[in-house]
Amino acid sequence: MVFKEIIFLVVLVAAVNAEYVSYKDYKVYKIVPKDEHELQVLTDLRKQPEYIYWNDIVSLYSDVKIMVAPEYQQDFETYFKTVNITAEVVFNDVQKLIDDQLKRPVSRSVVYDWSYFLNLDEINAWLTKIVEEHSDVATLVELGTSVEGRTIWGVKIDYKKEENPVIGMIEGGIHSREWISPATVTYIINEFLTSTDESVRFMAENIVWHIFPVVNPDGYYYTFNNNRMWRKNRSKDNFQTCTSVADDISNGIDLNRNFDFMWMHVGASQNPCMETYAGPNAFSEPESRAIAGYVQHIKKQGRMIYYFAFHSYSQMVLVPYSHLSGDRVLEAPNYADMYEIAIRGMDKLKAKHNTNYQVGTSGDILYYVSGSSFDWVKGAEGIPIVYLFELRDVGEYGFLLPAERIIPNNEEIMAGLLEMERVTRSMGYYNIQNDLLFPPTTQPPTDTTEATEPSTTAAPGSGMKTVFSVFLIALSLFVTL
Ligand SMILES: [Zn+2]
Repeated sequence: MVFKEIIFLVVLVAAVNAEYVSYKDYKVYKIVPKDEHELQVLTDLRKQPEYIYWNDIVSLYSDVKIMVAPEYQQDFETYFKTVNITAEVVFNDVQKLIDDQLKRPVSRSVVYDWSYFLNLDEINAWLTKIVEEHSDVATLVELGTSVEGRTIWGVKIDYKKEENPVIGMIEGGIHSREWISPATVTYIINEFLTSTDESVRFMAENIVWHIFPVVNPDGYYYTFNNNRMWRKNRSKDNFQTCTSVADDISNGIDLNRNFDFMWMHVGASQNPCMETYAGPNAFSEPESRAIAGYVQHIKKQGRMIYYFAFHSYSQMVLVPYSHLSGDRVLEAPNYADMYEIAIRGMDKLKAKHNTNYQVGTSGDILYYVSGSSFDWVKGAEGIPIVYLFELRDVGEYGFLLPAERIIPNNEEIMAGLLEMERVTRSMGYYNIQNDLLFPPTTQPPTDTTEATEPSTTAAPGSGMKTVFSVFLIALSLFVTL
């Protein structure tokens, strides 16, 4: 009898897990809080799990988007009438947006053209193919294995095969619902391997790149096959039933809160039901351990200068450290340089399609966070030029960005990255032999290994930036107001 019940439960759980979560007729409402009272109403309402907030932060005079299932819409609308706050319907059927994102062109060309979103198998097949076509410079590399046993694939691009190269690493898809992230990272790989633009060629050929489009493959698979809005990995440890998440056998762990730098300090949760659940301990997850181990491995192979992590959405370049704001941002080594590099990169990004990106620490411009991968790369491994990009948009579609916006997003990001590399080099972080295309404007440091060592001393370039730093303190204080 007991055995039968167990079998029944196992079958039930498996059935529930395999189910596709439909967002049919889920509405999205937009509310713009105009005073402290309205702000309080929205903050209080957030505690009710049936109201799914699309925004991470709720602030005065900015759009707040709330997704509501059909069965709760009547109550929701009545409540907002009672408190006399306007709640405008901006989307009538969220599933329609998801279906649009899943659409494929009728006659698909043989070559992927970024006109639609690839699923996990397609990304891995695409990686295999492009590496085969460029086998003289590209190799498939394994980051590690996910909770569910999937290999995390990436590509190493090395044109010159020189001793002590400049090294960069790019991470995509750590949050699975942020589909524009893998779509950007695959585009960067393609540019580095196929572009004929001379500045792209320079960035591709003079730096050894290690690029991973989907570091959370279980989560990414799950967003295509089960629940489009899944963010975390698929760990089944510490499972508990949550009212806020559809019934499932996994609560998942937020990999971008699981790294061993300021772990659980701020902006992370010990509640498995929360989207920011940091895990039972730092590095409890195979995916985060794989990223960390890989960084430690490749930084021994040369001068590791860059680490970029791609997320969405908000249109921001986040500079480490995410737990700092105001004048404390300067506690991050070479913060002033990182800030300037990003600002100049975003000027070039804007020139492409007139898209605005903000630059600053997460604590200053988004919200406090700790235990993220990019903060760990900076704080624990001392890599000098580290950013987290929050890609398009600023909340109009959010995670459900229409596929036709992939290409403009990618084009502007590429323009931004090229300028950031050029500025970093001009500040003397590294010198490329025969650097005739974009000669550095300042003398390179004599000891180039200094930049890659964990250190609280200033990195190259920041000595010249005292005046800029003073300006920056003033600016930081302004930003926090
Ligand atoms: Zn994210």
